[in-house]
Amino acid sequence: QVDSIQLLLNGLNEEQRRAVTAPDGPTVVFAGPGSGKTTVLTRRVLYLLERGIPARQLMVVTFTRAAAKEMKERLQQIMPEKVGELSIGTFHSLFLSMLREDGAQIPLLLQAAEQTELVRRLLAERDQPTDDETVASFLNQIGLCKGNLIFPARMKVQKEKNVLFRDVYRAYEAKKEQLGCWDYDDILVALYQRTRVPETLAKWQERYQHVLVDEFQDINRVQYEILLKLTGKHQRLFVVGDDDQSIYGFRGSDPAFMLELAKHFPSLTRIVLSVNYRSTDEIIRLGERLIRNNRSRQPKPRAGTGTKGPEPFWLEPDDEEDEAEQILEALKDGMETAVLYRTSTQARALIDALVRKGIPFFVSAGEHSFYQRWQVQDILAYIRLSYHPNDLDSLIRIVNKPKRYLFGDEWIDAAWNTARKGDRTLLEVLPELPGLEAYQVRYLNELRTHVPRIRKFSASEAVRYIRETIGYDRYLEAFAKETGNDPASLFEPADELVMAARHASDGQALVEHAEKVIEWVRHPAQSPRVKLMTFHKSKGLEFDRVFLIGLHAMVLPHRRSLQVPDNRKQAAWEEERRLFYVGITRARSELYLSVSKKRQGKRVGASPFVKEIGYDGEMGSAKSEIAVAREAPAAKSPVLHKPKAAQPQLRFAKEEVSPGMRLVHVKFGQGTVIQVTPLQGVAPGRKILIRFSGQTQTLHYELSRQLG
Ligand code: ATP
Ligand code: MG
Repeated sequence: QVDSIQLLLNGLNEEQRRAVTAPDGPTVVFAGPGSGKTTVLTRRVLYLLERGIPARQLMVVTFTRAAAKEMKERLQQIMPEKVGELSIGTFHSLFLSMLREDGAQIPLLLQAAEQTELVRRLLAERDQPTDDETVASFLNQIGLCKGNLIFPARMKVQKEKNVLFRDVYRAYEAKKEQLGCWDYDDILVALYQRTRVPETLAKWQERYQHVLVDEFQDINRVQYEILLKLTGKHQRLFVVGDDDQSIYGFRGSDPAFMLELAKHFPSLTRIVLSVNYRSTDEIIRLGERLIRNNRSRQPKPRAGTGTKGPEPFWLEPDDEEDEAEQILEALKDGMETAVLYRTSTQARALIDALVRKGIPFFVSAGEHSFYQRWQVQDILAYIRLSYHPNDLDSLIRIVNKPKRYLFGDEWIDAAWNTARKGDRTLLEVLPELPGLEAYQVRYLNELRTHVPRIRKFSASEAVRYIRETIGYDRYLEAFAKETGNDPASLFEPADELVMAARHASDGQALVEHAEKVIEWVRHPAQSPRVKLMTFHKSKGLEFDRVFLIGLHAMVLPHRRSLQVPDNRKQAAWEEERRLFYVGITRARSELYLSVSKKRQGKRVGASPFVKEIGYDGEMGSAKSEIAVAREAPAAKSPVLHKPKAAQPQLRFAKEEVSPGMRLVHVKFGQGTVIQVTPLQGVAPGRKILIRFSGQTQTLHYELSRQLG
């Protein structure tokens, strides 16, 4: 047994071994990204098993189902005979099986879409706006309450808005009860309530004598309270976490639970891991520069393994399309790559490009395609209707966007019958329906005239025509006013669609492309060349090369995340910074930070966070800022750098860089120029494809004679 324990400690450093073999009492491993927290947790499981603790006595909690799967697979390789009996999963899935084992009748669990529908109906009954954003915000709020064990009966509210919320919350709970359904958070609440039954609790305490939790910084109150109870007797709680990576505060997670563990467990062992094994020194340093701006955090030691790599690389593409193109270019070398972003709409240009080129990719499950956003679906419905004037679904979708005052659904039958009798289309007969008022006839006549014209336009013109001439933008404006939603957020998908449409010949092609993308996103590739996900979804993962794209003002921190009461602004701001930090710290060896000059056709500024880590809008100085400790390039050959924005004219003749030329780059070392392409449009410079030892890079940089 001693031998096998030695074996499972193999390759770990002293601190990590101490954590793996810590005594059975309460233990917290507190450490930065890449320091081996998840590794230690996995080995700890093996260690306990090796010591003869029955597998069924272990409970291992991961933050996502994917993480649980991965951990099971790792354990499977080492102790295949025991894995089947381990309880590994998310809080939700573990607690659900506990309830089942305890003989609880689990009612039907509402899926996200059903939950949304339920709340939508409750809001409609109360004459409240029922758009996706409003519904999502109510649901989020309900989840937040349950996570904090706050129930409608015990809510004291005064403000009118909160009175409405409590009313909806109460009705939501009542409706579920009436339907005999649960939502996922009810699992947590139900389990919490059962832990109050002493016999049940005692049974569970016997059953799960060791509880291990990964990503403990993102635990919420109800989960925490349950853990305290489960481990109350044996006190065998082993958790790992990093307060700097707490990013689910908006859902009620709170790193304070981790920081205050000692209050509940006076005998708490606290272990700090100090070496980041994941990333190069350059990447660690960049992360450190960012996160030290947060006031509310526990400082941690942070050493690297001394692995050197290229400095984090700033990209300053002209726009999203150019950004996507540069990423595609980079993918050619086959290096493991992930592209991370703040909001899923930001992946639109890249996903479009990948689909057009037929390059297999993975998009994190649960992220909808941009083309499924309701605004996009509305506009596409107009286009569909222009090609298929009998497309009832599309017609219903847009008939009152903008308002044409054709409410209810009696008109559908009438239109159907009229159309059939006269062998005409639904769209055509609308203004002739019986019983219409003059103003309705006018609106519907306009619709009938406008829609067929869409077919004659290019895709971009079609989108613009629908928005501007037919009045879809007017609808969005009115909608923003009515719902009190942020107009900028409401318009964003429509603006993005204008960009997307530039690649489609006509409306039909755009619709087909949209359908194709939705299919691709729904069925991720088996062996993807690149993985795409939000910063949130990337937590706990690592990749050789990481692109962080769309690092713009209003995106990071995201303007919506800052729409909180004044006393929570600072906290929200810091959570967004942590989110960026999580993104940066996913990279093993190469990190690209991309700040395109334009977004959706408009000039945009850089995120305040990139300024904190040295970006000042001009590549040259940003680089020197970041590269504080960089050694000077060894050779005196030409050096690549970006021309300053203030000097837009081409200062160096194109002939100076030509295929076959050898040069030395400050980050990549010696290389050979393979291809030189002049840039299109107004931007200065050229794209230069260079092969360095081991990798090929496309650089958007100009060759500087001065530094040569
Ligand atoms: P995060 O905070 O991002 O979740 P983490 O602390 O959980 O990170 P791990 O994912 O466990 O870190 O480890 C990061 C990487 O470092 C992994 O590739 C892991 O295999 C490697 N690693 C961990 N410990 C060592 C070690 N002692 N020697 C070499 N590599 C190690
Ligand atoms: Mg981890």
